[in-house]
Amino acid sequence: MRGEILSVGTELLLGQIVNTNARELALRLAEAGVFVYYQVTVGDNRQRLLAAYREALRRSDVIVVTGGLGPTYDDLTKETLAEALDVPLVLDEQAIDELRAWFVSRGLKMTAIQEKQALCPVGAELLRNPVGSAPGVLWQKDSKLVALLPGPPHEMRTIFEASVFPRIRSMSGEHLQSRILHVAGIGEASVQERLTDLMAGENPTIAPYAKLAEVELRLTARAGSDDEAQALLRPLVLEVRGRLGWHVYGEGDVRLEDAVGEELARQRLTIATVESVTGGLVASRLVGHEGASRYVQGGLVAYRLEQKESWLGLSAETIGDGVSAELAQELARAATGRFGADVGIGTCGFAGPAGRQVGLVYVAIAGRRGERVRELRLGATREEIRQRAAQWALTMLWQQLQEEA
Ligand code: ATP
Ligand code: MG
Repeated sequence: MRGEILSVGTELLLGQIVNTNARELALRLAEAGVFVYYQVTVGDNRQRLLAAYREALRRSDVIVVTGGLGPTYDDLTKETLAEALDVPLVLDEQAIDELRAWFVSRGLKMTAIQEKQALCPVGAELLRNPVGSAPGVLWQKDSKLVALLPGPPHEMRTIFEASVFPRIRSMSGEHLQSRILHVAGIGEASVQERLTDLMAGENPTIAPYAKLAEVELRLTARAGSDDEAQALLRPLVLEVRGRLGWHVYGEGDVRLEDAVGEELARQRLTIATVESVTGGLVASRLVGHEGASRYVQGGLVAYRLEQKESWLGLSAETIGDGVSAELAQELARAATGRFGADVGIGTCGFAGPAGRQVGLVYVAIAGRRGERVRELRLGATREEIRQRAAQWALTMLWQQLQEEA
């Protein structure tokens, strides 16, 4: 099947927003066995959008369109599809009820202009949007399928996964199975390097998705049945796990704090934190795993230099300017001492945005399993630096638990 991604929005053409939707859809369509031959971006202009639809309907089987489904005058995607298909738009009663309920649940009043979102081209169906107000649209005839999705990536993804991907899959008559591996402590480029030959494969495929200080690998196989597809995946999962070693912390829905937490519980270790730059993020994530009371002793945020001195009894010399490997180590040691935990984590660093050495972070682990400290250079915004630092703290802990299990 030949695929086409049509991105609608003048902001995209002007470079004001990055077209992440197209990238995401391209990866997923490939996994569904669709060959994407064209990606087209068009502004919020009826004439040019109409021309783009006509061209896409002529040359492609699967057409996924994002953006311009909202209620305002410049949102033309649905109206123009109806025009391209030469069908009228009708009000969908069920959709209007759902739309009203959506507004009521948020304490908002629905205006007449928003009713437009419940219009549907005759012969198409509206796709429920559980995370926003604009429903998607699906039109299918013979071997052609057109899906319209809202622009906001979260809404696009939710509707695509629930209502469009399964439909495209069934069109191809193939059975697809996927497994997701979570990888931490190694960048996307290094992951690709270690898997280059495997990633060249066409079935199964491996698609990497870079997340915040972690990489998600989606392994997908196509076959005549689900069982056959799973059988194709099994040796590949083993091979990838073998090559990436401890970096693979889990599969499916598991989060790093879940993997770490279960491992702490299994090894009967308790943990505590003394955090500076992460301000409690590490403790918060540890506590986010259900059953954390089995291993979390406690945590302390010691932010200002004076607090490090008075609470932890550290010398002014050790504290220095508040960011050093030595200080991180002392914080980690204090965590074990103060809370009587087997393992302690300490973090310090410059989160910026002003000042020298923004992004310089130290994360340390102390306790019964030995000490380790890591100097990190974490770029980007204050929020990202803090999030990445917390992710690294959990990653280092995971590595230690694996190595010394
Ligand atoms: P809304 O109801 O929010 O208006 P919409 O379906 O009309 O949704 P647009 O108005 O085109 O969508 O875009 C809304 C927002 O979604 C944009 O401001 C942008 O943040 C995001 N967005 C739109 N298209 C893309 C895209 N291709 N990639 C990434 N983000 C996008
Ligand atoms: Mg809009």
